[in-house]
Amino acid sequence: KSERQRKPDWIRVKAPTSKGYGETRQLMRDLRLNTVCEEAACPNIGECWTKKHATVMILGDVCTRACAFCNVKTGMPRTVDPLEPENVAVAAAKLGLEHIVITSVDRDDLPDGGAGQFVKVIEALRRNTPSTTIEILTPDFRGKMREAVEAIVAAGPDVYNHNLETVPRLYPTIRPGARYYASLRLLEEVKRHNPLIFTKSGIMLGLGEQRLEVHQVMDDMRSAGIDFLTMGQYLQPTPRHTAVIDFVTPQAFNAYGAIARAKGFLQVASSPLTRSSYHAGDDFRAMRDA
Ligand code: SF4
Ligand code: SF4
Repeated sequence: KSERQRKPDWIRVKAPTSKGYGETRQLMRDLRLNTVCEEAACPNIGECWTKKHATVMILGDVCTRACAFCNVKTGMPRTVDPLEPENVAVAAAKLGLEHIVITSVDRDDLPDGGAGQFVKVIEALRRNTPSTTIEILTPDFRGKMREAVEAIVAAGPDVYNHNLETVPRLYPTIRPGARYYASLRLLEEVKRHNPLIFTKSGIMLGLGEQRLEVHQVMDDMRSAGIDFLTMGQYLQPTPRHTAVIDFVTPQAFNAYGAIARAKGFLQVASSPLTRSSYHAGDDFRAMRDA
């Protein structure tokens, strides 16, 4: 590893060895569910799984896109598992989740982009664990966004999350299959259909973005009515992935967080190990019960 890539002290990750970790892992295997915790090689897996917080990744573990930062496999995805919605609900019940985060790979191969499976998962959760609050983190549904958002919003998630991931200048290299303004429009569309659903988005830092570009992204998000913001350090999952340009200090994350709060976000999480779903339930409840 180059000097530049060596992780600083503030990126400390405990090895996942607890009993709770093992139980969460076994449950996901038994129910044939994928998690973004594993597929994205998330550094928080030891902490989250010990507390039985996991983010389920529906629609398979193979993505039709190949973002430069992402550890998920790319290729031709498998057929959609019809048992998946019920299995997600069983997992939520067995883990005793008060809040569940559901995400998916991109399924540009499916006529609805996978929106129908999100709807079925939300419906299965509402039937089986009605007190669990639901946060979904969806792809951009390129070319079928309006229909997809309309269907998912009608199913009534509590939080609709879609990550912008980085500043617009870096899209061609970091998120080549996506368009910055299309992602912003998606979140605007959610609010247009149902202003009571909280919208959420996030970006990774350390990819070469400039401070003023980050401020501009915050302004764009606020203009689109986005309620919650997450910001975390990008970590290179393997040497094949795009390199870390810099490690943003915890102090700089705090400063970004303060600016975001001043810009009017209802909930802001900004620290090196913040991920889209990190402490999502705690943050949601804190905001809802405030
Ligand atoms: Fe999973 Fe999210 Fe926790 Fe990472 S932060 S381990 S993706 S729940
Ligand atoms: Fe990873 Fe999502 Fe990009 Fe697919 S679309 S490669 S899952 S970030």
